[in-house]
Amino acid sequence: MHVLTKPSLFALAFAPSCNFVASAQPFSSSFSSSMFGGGNGVNFAEREGRVKCRVILIEPLMVEPDAKERSTVACMLYPEYEGDSISGITYELYTPSFPHGFFEDVDYSTTDLTISAALVKTAGAGREHGGGVIVLKNGATATKELHGKGMGLRGGSSRRLAPTVGNSSLIVLYAVPLDASNSDRTPTQLANDVFGMAVNETQDPVNARSQVLSCSGGKLSYIPACGTSGQSCSSNVNQSIWFKNGVLRVPIPYNVTGIASGTVKNWVEAEAQKILQAQTPQINLYSFTQIMNVIPDEADWGGAAAWAYLPGQTSAFRNSYSWRMGVQVHEFGHNIGLHHSGNGTAEYADHSCLLGNPSYEDDGPEICFNGAKSWETGWYATDSVDVVPSSTVPFTADLIGAADWSTGTYTPGSHRVVLRITDSTVTQKYHIMYNRAKGPNAGVTFAKDKVTVTLGAPQQVSWHQAALGPVNAAGNVYPVFRKEKFNGGNKVSKACENDSLQVFLQSLP
Ligand SMILES: [Zn+2]
Repeated sequence: MHVLTKPSLFALAFAPSCNFVASAQPFSSSFSSSMFGGGNGVNFAEREGRVKCRVILIEPLMVEPDAKERSTVACMLYPEYEGDSISGITYELYTPSFPHGFFEDVDYSTTDLTISAALVKTAGAGREHGGGVIVLKNGATATKELHGKGMGLRGGSSRRLAPTVGNSSLIVLYAVPLDASNSDRTPTQLANDVFGMAVNETQDPVNARSQVLSCSGGKLSYIPACGTSGQSCSSNVNQSIWFKNGVLRVPIPYNVTGIASGTVKNWVEAEAQKILQAQTPQINLYSFTQIMNVIPDEADWGGAAAWAYLPGQTSAFRNSYSWRMGVQVHEFGHNIGLHHSGNGTAEYADHSCLLGNPSYEDDGPEICFNGAKSWETGWYATDSVDVVPSSTVPFTADLIGAADWSTGTYTPGSHRVVLRITDSTVTQKYHIMYNRAKGPNAGVTFAKDKVTVTLGAPQQVSWHQAALGPVNAAGNVYPVFRKEKFNGGNKVSKACENDSLQVFLQSLP
């Protein structure tokens, strides 16, 4: 495994830097940060100066009925600008102080931002490393280093992105503050709920590790940090009560009741780094590919159950949602760059996909991903194709669901998982998939056992378009999805005896 020290960013840069001089709004005293700073007894301290940071997008999963969905644009400070040179400390960016449209071309988690003169409002005076808010001062220069949208997206070791394939070493940081506790689960139980690692209890049947392994056919595997011999840290960590099965207990010397969850996350990661760097040899927190913070409900979550960097390494979970498989896979999906899956006008409402609003059970329901997301992960790439429908000869394909694909119960070259169609009238593409309720997708109820049509593109919200079925072959009734440039239908080819459905696609004359 690679060890991240200071990222060597310039090797990746290919786009010129862009300079902007701020002329936008100064910090408003009415601003209340929902994520970093604010909250019980936390006052802002202020300092001014040059800062450099990595731009981050944070996506919350809202659970409280009146809570307003709000993505947060944040920035992870380079360590030389944080006291004690601790890395990973994240601040909200006060976006009204930046020029209009400043963030439109930003590639989150890879773009660097340098501000010649910033007002840094630090949360929790006297309590270090809580983050806060960064404001671009009037007349100051903001410089973006764009590293290229989509360029080398999954590869470069200097990019803090979670991988979509291979092993992802995941460390669970289990916060132990002064005044509250993660009362739903012990650290040992949480290892079972995330990785299925049972100690003195029955093995958790469905968890983030097992679900993603099944949906991906073994292509993406969450492994507990320092828990296997393949990791450089495994030899020097004595699996003990403070760090076992990928879960690290992290005492933090502060109260967290009413404190913004982002500030608490910063405290937890800062304390975790101190613990890990005190080991011999030292362990770098950011050498793990994903970091899951579990924090008591008593912190201020602003109505969210959890949130994650999109894309990125970090997620944070309210204790009472941390053990629920659907929430885990939803947030880890954000870490690998997946946006939400919507239906109609509701961004969360495609329930054929865990990037919709997940259900909140411990072990389910077991659902994989819709066509757009399934294409984006690349897991099924060898059995998925781009189709250009003809107006004369229909394109036909036998579709199988994720379950049969993941167990190899199909004929390669004959069966397909995702069909993608370009419609020249829209920038997104149509994705056609058989939403078979079986195996890791057995819990699906939305568009169950139907052929789904999803409109989407990488790094965008996808939108459910249609669910085709059931088929009445006797009555010669085949459901059809029509768009200007093509029409698609489906019909049963072998009455589901091998779980495949034949679809045909034809462009309109
Ligand atoms: Zn989400």
